[in-house]
Amino acid sequence: MLPTLVLVGRPNVGKSTLFNRLTGTRDALVHDMPGMTRDRHYGRGRIGGKPYLVVDTGGLEPVAKDGIMAEMARQTLQAIDEADAIIFMVDGRAGLTPQDKVIADRLRRAHCPVFLAVNKAEGMNRAVVTAEFHELALGEPLAISGAHGDGIGDLVAEALAPF
Ligand code: GDP
Ligand code: MG
Repeated sequence: MLPTLVLVGRPNVGKSTLFNRLTGTRDALVHDMPGMTRDRHYGRGRIGGKPYLVVDTGGLEPVAKDGIMAEMARQTLQAIDEADAIIFMVDGRAGLTPQDKVIADRLRRAHCPVFLAVNKAEGMNRAVVTAEFHELALGEPLAISGAHGDGIGDLVAEALAPF
């Protein structure tokens, strides 16, 4: 079984963009993997010689009716439970939001390592863009750009280090 990386984060932080980069192409989607929920967004990739599965938890839920936690609905929570590593994405341009904090609180109870990825950091100073996210207390925030590919190799190498 390949290690499973699960992308988690509020809408619009760049999960799907990173998913597409990690899988190389939309065609890498795995549609009928036995034992996996069909409508979950799975893909396959390989970085640094290590293959992995990646799950984009965005688009899995109906739009929240009310409350921030409505966005962390059943399918996302199940994906978190099945993760070998979670990549928690936040938006370095938007900054830290209340939704990020709610998600961080849930991820503290995850049974696998959580890597905090500060996305949209292309062209920004790493120390500056990550500074306010230390307060989430989920380890050292890593500046990345899913759109440009910055920091992705290091992030995945860290997440896959035990595998
Ligand atoms: P999702 O809702 O978390 O899946 O986010 P998307 O991948 O759909 O991206 C949301 C918006 O952020 C889109 O307009 C993307 O083009 C933009 N975006 C995603 N990644 C980056 C990035 O690394 N840098 C910048 N500047 N924009 C990005
Ligand atoms: Mg998306």
